[in-house]
Amino acid sequence: MIVDAHTHIFPPEFIECRESLLADPCFRELYSNPQAKMATAEQLVSSMDENGIGVSIAAAIGWSSHELCRQHNDYLAQAVKQHPDRIIGLGMVQPRQTGHAIKEIERMAESGLRGVGEFRPDLQGIDLMDSTVMQPVMQVLDEHGMVLMLHSSEPGGHIYPGKGNLTPETLLPFIERYAQNRFILAHWGGGIPFYELQPEIKKICRNVYYDTAATPYLYEGRIYHLAAQLTGENKILFGSDYPLLSQGRALKHLGEAGLAGGIREQFLAGNTCRLFGIHPEDV
Ligand SMILES: [Zn+2]
Repeated sequence: MIVDAHTHIFPPEFIECRESLLADPCFRELYSNPQAKMATAEQLVSSMDENGIGVSIAAAIGWSSHELCRQHNDYLAQAVKQHPDRIIGLGMVQPRQTGHAIKEIERMAESGLRGVGEFRPDLQGIDLMDSTVMQPVMQVLDEHGMVLMLHSSEPGGHIYPGKGNLTPETLLPFIERYAQNRFILAHWGGGIPFYELQPEIKKICRNVYYDTAATPYLYEGRIYHLAAQLTGENKILFGSDYPLLSQGRALKHLGEAGLAGGIREQFLAGNTCRLFGIHPEDV
């Protein structure tokens, strides 16, 4: 079985009125280019069927308003209900509206969503080290065993829509403060796997997983081998960033790396199954 740990789906009404959503900073950054693709749950499932993918983690984006978070969360919860064996949902909250955010995480947990993602504090106007904003959110996520999937940015390299500034320098102090929480750092954590060679960083990143979303846009294929050596093979989750990147292209890129069978299986399914308690025989 293959699990895609990083996809995005949207309610059809968001896709139909995408112009009106451009007021949101994160949406504008990612989708102001009309070529930037958006997909519904049904389109995701048909892409999964085409590419032999059993389960996908479907995430929201970093909305700034509580109301947009709520509407997206409702759609994600409905998608999970309709495709319980195929889709795992991550919703969104705006932590600056603390009371709303806490209640919304409780509501997400009740409706079957498994965490928050893809969190964009840089575009949602949040300082990760502001504990009045972040501490209550991290606590309630931890209480519910929910995951925080965070966008991450490379400190160097080319600029692309949505790159942002969530570099290792910004992410590591935050992870250290909430090291008991479980994190997925998107896009290889912007390079944090390299720093896991430092024992103190390895320790603070003990509950951190890294996804491979958008790798063909960012790195040479050697990264799959090298990251397995840096972090061990149990922390890397195959993710595509569908529909910005097709699931087929992401799978092909990983396939071309020629990983040993055991490591490939951990990346493609085993690690994400363990993190979310998916039993491959049930799918
Ligand atoms: Zn991202």
